[in-house]
Amino acid sequence: MGAGVAGLRAAVELARHGDVLVVTKEALGESNTHYAQGGIAVAMEGDEDVALHLEDTVNAGSGIVYRAAAAALVSEGPVRVAELIEWGAEFDRDKKQGELLRTREGAHSRPRILHANGDATGAEISRSLAAFARVHKRIRFAEWSMLTGLVVDGGRVVAADVASASGFAIDHKHHRIRTYTHTRVAARAVLIAAGGAGQVYSDTTNPTVATGDGIALAAEAGAELADMEFYQFHPTALSLPGAPRFLLSEALRGEGAYLRNDRGERFMERYHAKLELAPRDVVARAIASEGMDEQGGMRLVYLDMRHVRNLDLHKRFPGISAFLAQHSLDLARDLIPVRPAAHYLMGGIKTDMVGRTSLGGLYAAGEAACTGVHGANRLASNSLLEGLVFGARAAQAMLDDDLPLIPGDAEEVKYTPLSSQEEKQVEAVIGRLQAGMWANAGLLREEETLRQGLAVQSACADELAELTGQGKRSRRLAEGRGMCRVANAILQAALARTESRGAHFRKDYPKRDDVNFLKHSVMGGDGRVGFEEW
Ligand SMILES: Cc1cc2nc3c(=O)[nH]c(=O)nc-3n(C[C@H](O)[C@H](O)[C@H](O)COP(=O)(O)OP(=O)(O)OC[C@H]3O[C@@H](n4cnc5c(N)ncnc54)[C@H](O)[C@@H]3O)c2cc1C
Repeated sequence: MGAGVAGLRAAVELARHGDVLVVTKEALGESNTHYAQGGIAVAMEGDEDVALHLEDTVNAGSGIVYRAAAAALVSEGPVRVAELIEWGAEFDRDKKQGELLRTREGAHSRPRILHANGDATGAEISRSLAAFARVHKRIRFAEWSMLTGLVVDGGRVVAADVASASGFAIDHKHHRIRTYTHTRVAARAVLIAAGGAGQVYSDTTNPTVATGDGIALAAEAGAELADMEFYQFHPTALSLPGAPRFLLSEALRGEGAYLRNDRGERFMERYHAKLELAPRDVVARAIASEGMDEQGGMRLVYLDMRHVRNLDLHKRFPGISAFLAQHSLDLARDLIPVRPAAHYLMGGIKTDMVGRTSLGGLYAAGEAACTGVHGANRLASNSLLEGLVFGARAAQAMLDDDLPLIPGDAEEVKYTPLSSQEEKQVEAVIGRLQAGMWANAGLLREEETLRQGLAVQSACADELAELTGQGKRSRRLAEGRGMCRVANAILQAALARTESRGAHFRKDYPKRDDVNFLKHSVMGGDGRVGFEEW
């Protein structure tokens, strides 16, 4: 499930041994992976470099990085990246020597971020992996298709329901809309690599496919989730009325950008010794507080690169420059207004080191999974690497487990599509959920607002359940229901963690509490949240 970096890397591994069906909600390439700008972190300079990458990852994670997972990430990373280069990925190189160029991002102790086409690293990784996967005869792609359910039999996932994601099934012969159908596909193993859930929030850098479907389906089937309270808010998304929250990569700050408030002050010195390259949660909260006046009104905060002289900014950041130009902004000339936006989910479906979930036959990798590798805060540019390393690991576990196929009927279940009025209703419910999550479970949280968030979430879930109860289905209805489930998990976990750590900040518990919470939150199939040491 999913054709981002994790799903594609796994598919390549699996195809060496059997038939693989890759189901992806839109065209191949529409994923968080495609939009990744800054780069991929990898320590390619030997053991000392790997050890430093491990320390940076552990330090960024605020005390709860699962060290074994982080060690696997940084030590297997170089092999996985070298392999990707061999398969055709072209990272930026020094024109004269031909050596790979490396940049530095927040909380990295040295420059180790490879990038491609300046600021289009994810698109290059996605392109090269998809091209490599496409030539495998044993990989089939089902584009514009979505998983809408997992079938559990005898405690094991044995099949998945797949539906069209391009709207209704149209009967071209008779020029009319057919019923909405789900087809049941039997599988020896199912890998959830369906990415993050930024769309749960009204302000997000994530594309529209990132609705957390995989996490919701796993939870619905009874799998455990972990660390759902830890949502990373990227500090610098573009803040222009009517424009999308376009990401302004951390690499801009890596190349020297300053942050300034509306009085022109470089304010980060009041918040952290590493200034603009402090951990993301620190920078995001600093921007949030500088961006608010005493009455809670909005003030502008800016990214400033006007002083950067030793770099051709348009060449180094062509994608960002082109997007800004559409809004008459120029990195070299203008102050760029920024604000935080939901960006990366550290939590997800709880897995072991090789992608096994708590449910037999079900595996997870990439942003949808939680190995504990990022702890409470992801180190910048570690997630593309995570997809490569843990995508390959999960595929290996699926092969090792060697589960039998339990053939079932390729049953087609028919549902009534929603009317256009009902589609509008679903859209309105999703809008309410997203706004409620931003207001109540965003950067700054407290018990009262989290409980308000739960009330909004539960009203939204009830309204959508009424439609499904009438036997109706659509893509947005399925996404909305999934988003409600993911939102509930975020809210419950955020309420249970009565401390502040990493990306999770509680105004009513502003301190880190290592005595009680040097642990991971785990939400069981019954919806209850407990804490475990890993
Ligand atoms: C704007 C932006 C910039 C970023 N920059 C960086 C960076 O510089 N470096 C870095 O390391 N990370 C970066 N990240 C994070 C990183 O891109 C992601 O964490 C990573 O790519 C996730 O990969 P994935 O394979 O787990 O999921 P994704 O790449 O999100 O892929 C998910 C796939 O699942 C599919 N899917 C979803 N729901 C369904 C369904 N119901 N049925 C079937 N298919 C489904 C989607 O269509 C998609 O194919 C960035 C993210 C964003 C949004």
